[in-house]
Amino acid sequence: MGQIHVMPAHIQNKIAAGEVVERPSSIVKEIVENSLDAGSTVIEVFIKNSGMESIKVVDNGHGIDYEDRTLLFERHATSKIDTAYELFEIRSLGFRGEALASIGAVSKVTLESMRDNSTPFKIVYSGGKYDEDTVWHERRGTIIEIEDLFFNTPARLKYIKNLRTEAGKIIDIMQRMALNYPEVSFRLVFDGKDRFKTTGNGNLKEVINILYGIQVSANTLAVNAASPDYTIDGYIVRPEVTRSNRNYINLSINNRHVRHFKLSESIINAYHTLQPKDKYPLAFLNIKMDPKLIDVNVHPSKVEVKLSKETELLRLMETAVKEALMETELIPEVAHKK
Ligand code: ADP
Ligand code: MG
Repeated sequence: MGQIHVMPAHIQNKIAAGEVVERPSSIVKEIVENSLDAGSTVIEVFIKNSGMESIKVVDNGHGIDYEDRTLLFERHATSKIDTAYELFEIRSLGFRGEALASIGAVSKVTLESMRDNSTPFKIVYSGGKYDEDTVWHERRGTIIEIEDLFFNTPARLKYIKNLRTEAGKIIDIMQRMALNYPEVSFRLVFDGKDRFKTTGNGNLKEVINILYGIQVSANTLAVNAASPDYTIDGYIVRPEVTRSNRNYINLSINNRHVRHFKLSESIINAYHTLQPKDKYPLAFLNIKMDPKLIDVNVHPSKVEVKLSKETELLRLMETAVKEALMETELIPEVAHKK
């Protein structure tokens, strides 16, 4: 008799969960991205005990169809792409259909949703099993709560040692999403205490002010640049305002937060001698491009991306930042010419 067998779905999901939902902040990211993909304009996030006790997200998005409720926690089940062709033209934050399956494999999920012209529902999903609940709110949108995180993955539970580190990572991810979506109102609450709330009025500078204070927002310099394939919009901050690491360089491509070493490097290069060697700038920049030119399918977390025409973008970035800095008349050659 053969020795090979296909693993049951709940084991497959537990393995995948290792990559998609590494820690509480990765869950927050996935759940909030789902709310954004659902077109929400108000997203509230309630965290208890750094997410280990509970992560609850309330949105006002388009909600989930009653018929889809049993597919939610199936791996590779998504409403966002239909064809392989679309995989090369991703327009939503999610598309892999892995987040809920992975989260459901390592926690207890309570999900309540209502979509226009569909029946509202509430389900509790845990250990691969559903329970339907008969009590739900009649409100358009979705409420999802994750509890007992990593209850069945002892190694992962052990790995989450420092709750303050986890809280910090949640704040970081929420801040980046608030910066990428100034037109969405975000609220973050830790153990009943409000951490921040943005208005959703579309003003990026106001978001910067709410998150980083007047010292940063009053020193922003606008960046607007375009090349045939890319546009860059947002703000950098005057060189006098510095940070001791690169984490304050916020970059997004088509509103998705990305980490891109070379792009950060081109910003740092533009500041060149304006900042001491061990100091780094702050930046809040969104790049827009044809989704065909970017591959976000590099890693399950989708934070790393591959770009075609990368050189064009790097050049545009460095020039755009230099130009914005020139406005401050701090670049010696420019001051000289005047
Ligand atoms: P993906 O986002 O990659 O499609 P997920 O596992 O994150 O996969 O979600 C599965 C599906 O559940 C989504 O495609 C979407 O249809 C639905 N969904 C999840 N969260 C929400 C939400 N907050 N509002 C509306 N639909 C949602
Ligand atoms: Mg998703």
